[in-house]
Amino acid sequence: MLPKPIWLEGEKVFLIDQTLLPVELNTIEIRTEEAMWDAIKRLVVRGAPAIGLAGAFGVYLGAARKLEAGILTVDNFTAEVHASGAYLDTSRPTAVNLHWAVTRMDRVAEQLVQSGEQEVRMLVQGLLRECEAMLNEDIAACRAIGEYGADLLEAIPGFHTMLTHCNAGALATSMYGTALAPAYIMQERGHQIAVYSDETRPLLQGARLTAWELSQSGIPVTSICDNMAGVVMAQGKIQAVIVGADRIASNGDTANKIGTYTVAVLAKEHNIPFYVAAPLSTVDFAIDDGTQIPIEERKEDEIRMFHGRQTVPDAASVFNPAFDVTPQRYITAIITEKGVAYPPFRQNLVALRDGKQTTGAEVHNLQYQVVKAAKAMSQDGLASGSFGNVSAVNRAHNLLAITPSGVLYDTMQPEDICILHLDGSAITGVENRYQPSSELPMHCAVYATRQDVNAIVHTHAAYCTAYASSGKPLGPIISEMGMIASGDVPCVAYYQPGTLELAKYTAEALHEANGCLLANHGAVSVADCMDRAYMLAQILEDGAKAAALAQLIKEPEYIPPKNCSLLYEKMKGYGR
Ligand SMILES: [Zn+2]
Repeated sequence: MLPKPIWLEGEKVFLIDQTLLPVELNTIEIRTEEAMWDAIKRLVVRGAPAIGLAGAFGVYLGAARKLEAGILTVDNFTAEVHASGAYLDTSRPTAVNLHWAVTRMDRVAEQLVQSGEQEVRMLVQGLLRECEAMLNEDIAACRAIGEYGADLLEAIPGFHTMLTHCNAGALATSMYGTALAPAYIMQERGHQIAVYSDETRPLLQGARLTAWELSQSGIPVTSICDNMAGVVMAQGKIQAVIVGADRIASNGDTANKIGTYTVAVLAKEHNIPFYVAAPLSTVDFAIDDGTQIPIEERKEDEIRMFHGRQTVPDAASVFNPAFDVTPQRYITAIITEKGVAYPPFRQNLVALRDGKQTTGAEVHNLQYQVVKAAKAMSQDGLASGSFGNVSAVNRAHNLLAITPSGVLYDTMQPEDICILHLDGSAITGVENRYQPSSELPMHCAVYATRQDVNAIVHTHAAYCTAYASSGKPLGPIISEMGMIASGDVPCVAYYQPGTLELAKYTAEALHEANGCLLANHGAVSVADCMDRAYMLAQILEDGAKAAALAQLIKEPEYIPPKNCSLLYEKMKGYGR
């Protein structure tokens, strides 16, 4: 079961005592604002969103006790609420959310009094309702982050395991958390998911809290020391990293628990997507970049002592920054409750905040589609090494994504996929890591002549290549081929790969067919979406194989032309 760090039962407020985790699960009822102040101070409750909720609940508890004691009146209501808030705000002076929450309670108190309510008991009930609303808002925000994050994880080819640092899970919020929310939603959606959790020295939030809450929820979790993240990435055990954030500058630079930066650099080296998950309120639009985020240094003993024993000689000095800043260039995307921001973050974070269209998502979607098909092509034996190529387009945004030249499919990453305009020209401001496939002219020619086509798969599959060495069209030997052409699948004569001639004649052959053979060179299939183009590539190979085998019985019968056109009508919409 997913744990909750703070919750209401009727008019009662409960906390999990996080200082006792993971050994002891102790829930405590908090009855007074003083008890709440102490709980925040001692880290019984921690994590920015949860601290905010605790502050608001503390303000409510203060009012409820004063009501019981008979010292709360309509006249002193706003002043008492303000006094409680100001007091609670001193428990963790650096917590931005705490200040935000008690300020919100102040405002609500004023509104309640202004509404003309004459019964003080009803004013206190109003505070309780506000606490419930804040709790529900936080749950909804975390859930939305989880949904957006899970969509990203689902799109990663072969995704199984993520790594996280520190604790930005359910225990840091009301429910679901931020960095762990995608994992919980993946579990809800019925996917297998596992998590590696950095222990997160010096306070071990990853080991104590992340590993605890994930195991409570039934998600397989493996704890590692912080210095082991590199080896698990090198061993291919991690397909994504998701971390939380304490503060995000407007350019995307992200302050988070110390050690996050190290993980980000490692992820980049291993081509693993690195995501930051945080509510939009974490973005500080007032600061330009990460250099303006102050980094708190904590007391020496956290480093000097380990488990109650001194482990650093007296003569050595100690440096203990609580946070580090990960430069935005290491961040694949920032997942918020309002959507996913891709680079350029400065522009896209503002767009998310203002409910406007962001850019970048289209590019990522295309890159994921292409890399997924390219890897499948290699795994299914339709292509080997780096031969063949795959592309997809987004016509509304004039974007074309195509596999790079000379990059092995087995190690290819979404970021390796080249992004260009539909006509193959470069996009200002977009720097591709590699040269696009040398067959780019062919892809562009087909997209220009076939406006209904959004994806192209070119394989060097063995049977297609072998059959096409005859230079002859491929007869409809199996009925699925009705999805490709209303008769024979055309075969383009041999032209040098990568030439404009090959591009021209391939586009011509595909004028009225969804696939063709290339003499001594494989096959091309096209469709309105990648999944279908890929399916057609498989059908072409199956058809070429069946034709090759049929020739063993000397004179194979092909499906007669009349039936072919009927088949084409019938199969055009097959699988939709
Ligand atoms: Zn080729």
